[in-house]
Amino acid sequence: MTIHRAYIDGEWVATGLTFPIINPSDGSVTGHVARCGAAEVDRAVRAGHAARAGAWGATEAAERGRLMNRLAALIRRDGEELARLESEDVGKPLTLARSDVGVCARYFEYYAGAADKVHGDTIPFQNGYTVMTVYEPHGVTGHIVPWNYPLQMTGRSVAPALAMGNAIVLKPAEDTCLTALALARLAEEAGFPKGAFNVVTGFGEEAGAALASHPGIGHISFTGSHEVGVLIQAAAARNTIPVTLELGGKSPQVVFADADLDEAAATIVKAITQNAGQTCSAGSRVLVEERIYDSFTADLAGRFRALRVGSAAQDLDLGPLVNAKQKQRVDTFLTMARRDGLPILAEGAFAGNVPQDGFYVKPTLIGDVPPDHPLAQQEVFGPVLVAMRVKDEEEAAAIANGTPFGLVAGVWTRDMGRGLRLAHRIRSGQIFINNYGAGGGVELPFGGVKGSGHGREKGFEALYGFAATKTVAIKHGL
Ligand code: ADP
Repeated sequence: MTIHRAYIDGEWVATGLTFPIINPSDGSVTGHVARCGAAEVDRAVRAGHAARAGAWGATEAAERGRLMNRLAALIRRDGEELARLESEDVGKPLTLARSDVGVCARYFEYYAGAADKVHGDTIPFQNGYTVMTVYEPHGVTGHIVPWNYPLQMTGRSVAPALAMGNAIVLKPAEDTCLTALALARLAEEAGFPKGAFNVVTGFGEEAGAALASHPGIGHISFTGSHEVGVLIQAAAARNTIPVTLELGGKSPQVVFADADLDEAAATIVKAITQNAGQTCSAGSRVLVEERIYDSFTADLAGRFRALRVGSAAQDLDLGPLVNAKQKQRVDTFLTMARRDGLPILAEGAFAGNVPQDGFYVKPTLIGDVPPDHPLAQQEVFGPVLVAMRVKDEEEAAAIANGTPFGLVAGVWTRDMGRGLRLAHRIRSGQIFINNYGAGGGVELPFGGVKGSGHGREKGFEALYGFAATKTVAIKHGL
């Protein structure tokens, strides 16, 4: 069986230790990956500094953009192979993996275009001075990404860092290393100098913790669970480096009677079932105006019953969850719903020939969930939608804001005044009116408030997170 090596300083590195790759669709072991620890992380960070002091540091902004565009073109060239790899590794339907490949390429294209367009200011100051600001890269940046959208998350995190001239050390999630390594191979082919793009594979508590606490990194980006996010921020604090945290959500979608209810229902179902609900920005709560609650949830229920779950290759509405731990987590929430007598309004179904031993769960719609119930408060990270009744705008805002999270929200109404009032009142990093998610939205700043984290990814704004402003004040006299 293949052993996939890490990519450090332009070399493919074996460590003597490995861990298995498990196919979520049938539980089989399909290969092994090098298990990196503190020594490999240290080597990668040093390689990053050497690259910054050498060829990568000498690469002009426009050339960085060219390299990134070349990488994007290679991602598109190998799109079908990358999609197959991602689909098998994560368990996601092939069609979704194909769209993830496109978004990943788009991140590199978007930030390639930005590489030579981030410039500072000149600042009017006292007579006899010229003052300007310059954006300098942090040096070597660490990127710890999760398993739900490995290609997208890698592009989102490393592309703006590379555009600003940082060398990167990427730690993919242990469940899904394959496309990160494939990207490293393509970065090599594109011509990135050695040490600019490093991938250390390994466990979170080993390679991840070693990266987050390494004194040689200048910034750490993390997307994942709240608990680990707190550890990352604590590690960054000891080295006093900036950190970007994206820690998930419990994102509400508020539906009023005057909305286009058909479009709302279709979008709401997709927003919680895409990637089997394993999406940070999944719309996992639906708050429905009381007078249409019964008819609207009946519509949602019909759509849930029509959903089909199958293997990644079967390419149905939902694939399996990524691993046994996630299945256990979602099953625990569903058991809790039944134990507490919450109405299960609908479930999807498994396709007839779903393989044995995959990590499958049925998409489930639960009605009349009390706002303080764990199902309405905690991130399930599975295809579970909880519905609640709201009297009016006031109550909708209170319930929408009544969780520890604040990542994304949606409002469905034809009354734009009401839509805008809620856009201001609901605390979240993004809010959508009469749509949700905006199809990936590489160009749109994204990130959390409250327990969902801080710092912004995506859009032009992300670039500033990967640089420090230096003010240069020159006294030349009059
Ligand atoms: P989940 O519980 O959903 O798997 P995690 O937050 O544990 O999400 O994982 C997200 C990423 O964080 C993965 O790449 C994982 O390896 C990494 N990770 C997990 N634990 C730690 C840790 N203690 N320090 C650094 N990274 C970690």
